Amino acid sequence: MNTDILTIAIDGPAASGKGTIARAVAAKFGLRHLDTGLLYRAVAARCLQAQADPADPDAATQIAQTLKPADLARSDLRSAETGRMASVVAAHPPVRAALLRWQRDFAVEAPGAVLDGRDIGTVVLPDARAKLFVTAEADVRAARRWRELSQKSDIAYRDVLRDIEERDARDAGRANAPMRQADNAATLNTTEMSIDRAVDEAVRLIDAQLTA
Ligand code: C5P
Repeated sequence: MNTDILTIAIDGPAASGKGTIARAVAAKFGLRHLDTGLLYRAVAARCLQAQADPADPDAATQIAQTLKPADLARSDLRSAETGRMASVVAAHPPVRAALLRWQRDFAVEAPGAVLDGRDIGTVVLPDARAKLFVTAEADVRAARRWRELSQKSDIAYRDVLRDIEERDARDAGRANAPMRQADNAATLNTTEMSIDRAVDEAVRLIDAQLTA
């Protein structure tokens, strides 16, 4: 691997703040950014559009293998339903294998990249130069997600919380590439932090790893 390429891995559960942090970190270090959840969401959205069952590994794999950049620009990727189904397609090992190549190809292009997801520090970029695991209490994450989703649809907080808890359990419990903190990742708990404070803290933790 080219050592001039700077890769940073940011993992964590839904609505922990990792996406906003990853975007800000990428801007700060002059790197490209990939929200890897979008890949799984795009596979799920295409499954739903084709009326295929996201739990069917063959259908989901066929879609993952033919995913195109335009699929990441769909307007339906951020819905609660797509998020839920993304964690269903994400449990199929061949889907993960197809998307793994995409993620690594993105990361190794100069000058490097920040990838955020669930298995970046453990599986996708085990040699990343800096790793963060961003977390927050489930009820705080649900409140954040509810504020976002309730601007676009009529959705109850308790449904969002249930969704987040189910998704956490599915993502952490799957056999293949479960959501897990890498041994050498720094922890950032954003439960009581504003997003500005969380970004500052993330940059400090990453700087410490890059200069160690
Ligand atoms: O991060 P986001 O909520 O958009 O991710 C949607 C789903 O995609 C997650 O619940 C998870 O199942 C899956 N995912 C994954 N590995 C990643 C990123 C996302 O399994 N690296």
